[in-house]
Amino acid sequence: MAEAITGPAWDLSDEYDSVDDPRVQQDLAELDDLLSRVETLNEALTGDDGLAAAQQIAKLGEQCGRLLANVATFAHCLLSVDAQHEGAQKLSGSLQAVRKRYGDLFEPLSQFVDDADDEVIAAYLADPEVAPSAFIVEHGRKRRHENLSLSEESLVNGLSQDGVHAWGTLYDQLAGSLECQVTVGNEQSTMGIAEASGLLGSDSDSQRQAAWSAINTAWEGHEESCAAALNAIAGWRLEMCRQRSREQNVHYLDAPVHMNRISRRTLDTLLEVAGETRPLAQRAARLQGRAYGKAGFGPWDLRAPAPTLGDGDGSAIEFEEAVEIIASAYGEVDPSMAEFVRMMVEKRWIEGTTGPRKAPGAYCTGFSKSRNPRVYMTYTGGQSDVITLAHELGHALHSWVMRDLPDSQRSYGMSLAETASTFGETLVRDALLDRATSRQQRLDILWEEMSAFTAFLLNIPTRYEFERKFYDARVERPLRPQELKDMMSEAWTAWYGDALSEPDPLFWASKLHFYISGLSFYNFPYLFGYLFSLGVYAHREEFGNDFYQRYVALLRDTGRMTAEDLAQGHLGVALDEPVFWQNTIASIGERVDAFEALLDEIES
Ligand SMILES: [Zn+2]
Repeated sequence: MAEAITGPAWDLSDEYDSVDDPRVQQDLAELDDLLSRVETLNEALTGDDGLAAAQQIAKLGEQCGRLLANVATFAHCLLSVDAQHEGAQKLSGSLQAVRKRYGDLFEPLSQFVDDADDEVIAAYLADPEVAPSAFIVEHGRKRRHENLSLSEESLVNGLSQDGVHAWGTLYDQLAGSLECQVTVGNEQSTMGIAEASGLLGSDSDSQRQAAWSAINTAWEGHEESCAAALNAIAGWRLEMCRQRSREQNVHYLDAPVHMNRISRRTLDTLLEVAGETRPLAQRAARLQGRAYGKAGFGPWDLRAPAPTLGDGDGSAIEFEEAVEIIASAYGEVDPSMAEFVRMMVEKRWIEGTTGPRKAPGAYCTGFSKSRNPRVYMTYTGGQSDVITLAHELGHALHSWVMRDLPDSQRSYGMSLAETASTFGETLVRDALLDRATSRQQRLDILWEEMSAFTAFLLNIPTRYEFERKFYDARVERPLRPQELKDMMSEAWTAWYGDALSEPDPLFWASKLHFYISGLSFYNFPYLFGYLFSLGVYAHREEFGNDFYQRYVALLRDTGRMTAEDLAQGHLGVALDEPVFWQNTIASIGERVDAFEALLDEIES
């Protein structure tokens, strides 16, 4: 048997050698010192020297944020590789109190910036070290008409811990402790929801269906609790909107849209185009069913892997080979993108080993002091690992091209966060498709594309439509579990049509996203990010040799512009009009055709 394929271990020693490295305590001591200075300055914030104090606090804020994040990232990296790392556990635990103190100490500054008059803000931003934060300051102030008085805000904040957030916690605890009975093989097995959810990715039809039914049976036993939580979370938010409507009417979509730095018009346009795309997306879903020899897909099939053809899945890809595939695909856009990929490997900034204590999943993170990125994953040589690596390297490139910018311009909303990652993934997927030798390899790639397409264009809009209808109805009264089921089934049917064999009526109970107490509408940013990135990708030909330069310029502005300004300025397109989105979808249509042609070939 061939030796198991794995990736390299990462090197974190540029930052800290270990949790006992004196540099860790040095950074924490410096942070403590700076926080004490903020504490003193906060007292001056309301006095005659308020403006000067605010500017000082803002500057200290950047330094504090950097120190805190640097140590926290280190602890997180260690815990990802070894969840039971004693030292990292302790370090991470000790940061909790620091984080709380940090949050409390900078609250007065955000109040100051929100409440100040325009002239004061102009003076505040006149300081060259504070000036780079102009975009986030001004963007934040767009919602200042919603502000309650200082004492009301602090009352709401205090009560929300055992109010809205308690419902989210209840749900998390329920999800974490709930058990279900799944038939695995010939045996009944008792397992937690997370484990059962893992079976939804099984290649066996009956296994997926059994897991899905078991999960739903478990949630059904708690439908009253879930409905109470959902009604309370939405009720809290609607009441907050009502309270915040003193100057002008506040809608429940105002906060999510603002957070994603897009306009309501853009959101409406996006969903309108998704609506137009329904026939194409449903066709893709029906084709996926056909690949499994079924007339339609079931709600338990949404995470099904590509069916196995038995013509050999092709040999696994060594890590070094994967790096070369990615570097050459990236390099087709610009040679510096290939150099970046090789640099990530040479500097040992990628963690790709396998290990029993490693956390599942993949992510990209970065150290805030050096601004050097790191990519985390478990590499075992599958095509999907290569795509995951390409995705995370896209994130790393995004932060790399922004590394010289001020901290206040380096964070972006969720709507733009996947721009470079999806872009990188698409590049490499195309490269893999070109080099695929077996039908299985081609099927695997196109299958993943179809799964992404239907997830973003059918499943996400289903969630969005349900949430909208639920909020509209919740204004009148709390909804009963049966009403929620009916509403959810209607949303599924509206989007999937006959491409799905049946709806998933309990999806409002089983989907964690509806219970995140700090965020609502955690759905449309996924759709936005996916289509926006493919839209950028589609501009490659049009811009020709200028593309790379424009791409980098676009990425660099993701932390200091609204999505509309970014798209207008760098791509010359209007996001609040359908054309850009329609053109993007046309490029996906070709992939659906390719998928169908492959199925024809396989069946012939
Ligand atoms: Zn990502």
